[in-house]
Amino acid sequence: MKTATLNKGKEDKYFNQYPLVEAEDIFKSDVLNEGDLFQLKTSTDVYIATCYVGRQHKGLGWVLTYDTNEEINEDYFQKQFALALEERQYFYNVDGTNAFRLFNGEGDGIGGLTIDNYDGHLLVQWYSEGIYAYRSLIISAITAIFDYNSIYEKTRFKHERIQSGFVLGDAPEFPIIMEENHTFYNVHLDDGPMTGIFLDQKEVRKKLRDYYATNRNILNLFSYTGAFSVIAAQEAKTTTSVDLANRSRILTEENFGINGIDPNTQQIFVMDTFDFFKYAKRHQLSYDTIVIDPPSFARRKNKTFSVMKDYDKLITGALELLNKNGTLILSTNHSMFSLKSFKNMIKRTLKDVGVEFDLDEVMGLPKDFKTHLHYKPSKYLKVVFITVKH
Ligand code: SAH
Repeated sequence: MKTATLNKGKEDKYFNQYPLVEAEDIFKSDVLNEGDLFQLKTSTDVYIATCYVGRQHKGLGWVLTYDTNEEINEDYFQKQFALALEERQYFYNVDGTNAFRLFNGEGDGIGGLTIDNYDGHLLVQWYSEGIYAYRSLIISAITAIFDYNSIYEKTRFKHERIQSGFVLGDAPEFPIIMEENHTFYNVHLDDGPMTGIFLDQKEVRKKLRDYYATNRNILNLFSYTGAFSVIAAQEAKTTTSVDLANRSRILTEENFGINGIDPNTQQIFVMDTFDFFKYAKRHQLSYDTIVIDPPSFARRKNKTFSVMKDYDKLITGALELLNKNGTLILSTNHSMFSLKSFKNMIKRTLKDVGVEFDLDEVMGLPKDFKTHLHYKPSKYLKVVFITVKH
């Protein structure tokens, strides 16, 4: 097997089970190609772990096992999946919810690979060519361990020839309708990079409906398929969804429809968020709860938006539309934006504007998105609830 030797002094980090092998920590190695297995060793040639090469951002690859004798074969993958399955038993038995994450990358022991269950239809996501090299072993292990009607896949790395889509089983007609907290959502597993729903926000959606929606006017910015609007509409006075993409209108209307809500009773704007701020001010629109869940990076009119640099502008824009004692639900899934910096940015922005506020709560990933104890970026989702008293 190939070897990669750490820089002197880096061994503690990996002995302490940091799962991502970072390129800058490597002193020397054999030629490492995507998918290669290698032994990670200290500068004095002591074995630490067996890893695979799968380049993602700063990472060269991921640790697979700390047992020098363990072989990386189908049994290995079956064993990891069986453990993950055991920990997900609860999620198979939640009343009114039939979609959840079955296997969450490094949190479940294999970085670069996730598996979601949408009511029996599994979606496998490959984050590097390296993990994709194990595709046939992994698919075979999935069929041995998990129940499924069909399996789909998406590649999250750039490659000209490798296609996403159907793998095996009984192909359903899309969209399929999944249920979460007694709310229905349309899902596509074979259409572009997104599925129609972000499963990691399920507890935030529930919290919105149960605590911040009743008799309120809700504004949902970056609304995509309207998932936050649809669950809030069950309790709210009205919902308003704003998204730049044309497709968002029809997808949002369909999600209202399958929940028995007439989309004509709700507002949907296909508009840039910053243009909407101006529009809403001009028309004196105001809201009691504003959800802000933007992408980490976006382009608009030749300008780029980055949550790290520009989130404060979303907050100041939203504040101008927020009623007294209204709530801001502020979310980011940027793994490099720490909760501490996110909270500091929020507090600083609110203080600069001069409003009085309470930080009501902070939410993160649900339990099925199992995180890695020694790898902070795996807790990428941060959602802060702020009530502004004025
Ligand atoms: N909040 C959504 C997910 C957002 S995905 C949910 O919970 O399901 C990001 C969305 O932001 C995409 O639908 C994209 O079209 C939209 N978007 C990107 N830039 C935008 C902008 N400047 N104004 C409004 N929407 C934007």
